[in-house]
Amino acid sequence: MKDEHLILKDNEPKQSEEDLKREENEVLTCNECGGYKFEPFYVVIWRTRLLNPDIPKDGWAPVQSFRCMDCHHVNSDMDPINGLLEED
Ligand SMILES: [Zn+2]
Repeated sequence: MKDEHLILKDNEPKQSEEDLKREENEVLTCNECGGYKFEPFYVVIWRTRLLNPDIPKDGWAPVQSFRCMDCHHVNSDMDPINGLLEED
């Protein structure tokens, strides 16, 4: 028997304190230029069954997010690789 509590789930939605303070119809703006129009993009991440038991097999998984249409900046809280890559 596997102990369910030992399985790390990094894709569970987290509600930050900042998010809980947001109000209905707040408009997301770019942290760089203040723009409010965004376009979708994908980051493709290798997922393993070890950490994601619900997927059929190890494989590339697209994660969609949004970047600013004006300056192409990705707000750090919108960046799927935020926290995945070690910065030197
Ligand atoms: Zn921008």
